[in-house]
Amino acid sequence: MEGQFTKLNESFTCLNCGKFVEKDLNGSSRNHCNFCLCSLHLDITPGDRLSQCHGLMFPIDIISIGGKNIIFHKCSRCNIIKKNKALIDDNLMYFYEN
Ligand SMILES: [Zn+2]
Ligand SMILES: [Zn+2]
Repeated sequence: MEGQFTKLNESFTCLNCGKFVEKDLNGSSRNHCNFCLCSLHLDITPGDRLSQCHGLMFPIDIISIGGKNIIFHKCSRCNIIKKNKALIDDNLMYFYEN
């Protein structure tokens, strides 16, 4: 397992809004809730699940680069900021409405 890049695409229950999040049907790795956009601090590098933090990560900004949306998540426990690609079914409006 060590040093291996694992692409995770799993369904999970969001710890922030409690909704069941289906895995991405297009095969991308889903690491955040598509309803409230929250994520969990589980990775040091994407997909490795090696972080000991496990804090809830909230969206702090969304930017658009070349037609792709990038969500910036900030960890509520250790304050690290990470970039994540938004998926096609992400409810980006949630971010603007809240
Ligand atoms: Zn959620
Ligand atoms: Zn953290």
